[in-house]
Amino acid sequence: MSGDRRFEGPSDLHLHSVHSDGTESAADVMAAAHVRGLRTVALTDHDTTSGWTEAAEAATSLGMTLLPGMEFSAHGEGRSVHLLAYLFDPDDRGLRTEMERIREDRVGRAERIVRRIGRDYALEWEDVVEQTGDGATVGRPHIADALVARGIVATRGAAFDTILHPRAGYYEGHYAPDIAKAVSLVAAAGGVPIVAHPTTAGRARMMPVPLLERLISLGLAGFELEHRENTAEGKRVLYRLAERHDLIVTGSSDYHGLGKPNIPGENTTSDDMVARIIALGTGSSPVYA
Ligand code: AMP
Ligand code: FE
Ligand code: FE
Ligand code: ZN
Repeated sequence: MSGDRRFEGPSDLHLHSVHSDGTESAADVMAAAHVRGLRTVALTDHDTTSGWTEAAEAATSLGMTLLPGMEFSAHGEGRSVHLLAYLFDPDDRGLRTEMERIREDRVGRAERIVRRIGRDYALEWEDVVEQTGDGATVGRPHIADALVARGIVATRGAAFDTILHPRAGYYEGHYAPDIAKAVSLVAAAGGVPIVAHPTTAGRARMMPVPLLERLISLGLAGFELEHRENTAEGKRVLYRLAERHDLIVTGSSDYHGLGKPNIPGENTTSDDMVARIIALGTGSSPVYA
C-alpha cells in the first residue's frame, strides 16, 4: 500500500437513503455523515446504484470522499444474507440483470404482503407507494412507514416486531440470488464483496464456516464485524476466520435516517481497511473531494 493516501478517516461505509429504505435523500445522508465528523463514506442502498450521482456531488461539496456502494440481497442456506459491494462497475451486465430481477420481484412481493395485511387492517397498496421514493427499491420498511402513517403502529420497529414479523402470517420473502452467485457477480464486476452484519442471530444461525471459506475462494473480501446487530460470540469466530485468511474487516452504522436508531459514525472502518478496499476495487473509482 502506498503512503500517499488520498482519503481521510473516520470512515463509515454503510448508509441508506430514499433510493432504498432510508428516510433521507442521498444529499441529506451525506450531510448527516458530515455533521458527525465523517470524512469517507459509502452510500449502500439495497439493490440499486441510483443514488450514486447525488451522493457524489453532495459528499465532495462537503469535502468528503465517497465510495460508490450497494447492499446486495442474497440468500445462504435458506436465510437472507446482505452483501455489501464497493467500487463495482454499475453497468456490468450480469450484476445489473440480477439487481433488476431482485427489485422487480420485491414489488410483487410487497404488494402480496400488503394485500394479506389489508384483510385485517386498513392498509392499501397506495399507502405504501406514498411512502416509497420514485424508483426506490421497495421493502418492508416502506410497508412499516405506511402502517405508521395509518396510525396502526407507532414506529418502524414496532411494525417489524408485530405485523411484519414472519410469524404474524403476512410475510413472504423475495427473490435473491444464492450468496455464492452474489459474491461471484460482484467480484466479476470489479467490486469488493463484504458480508454485511454477518452474525446478527448468534453462531447457530450464521453461515457455517465451510460455506464462508468457499465464498472466500470465490472472491469474498471480508466481513462487516463492527455493526450494532452482530453478536459477540459470532464476532469472535469471524475475527479469527478473517485473520486466518487475511480478510478485510469493517465497522459501520447502517444508517437509515429516522428508520432506525443507528447514527452515522457509531462504528467506523480503519484507514488501513479502507485503503485495502480501494486497492481491490477496479469496477469504479472512489470520488474524491
Ligand atoms: P426486506 O428486505 O423488505 O425484507 O426488509 C428488510 C429491511 O428492513 C432491512 O434492510 C432493514 O433495514 C429493515 N429492518 C429490519 N428490521 C428492522 C427494525 N426492527 N426496525 C427498522 N428497520 C428494520
Ligand atoms: Fe435496510
Ligand atoms: Fe442489511
Ligand atoms: Zn443496510
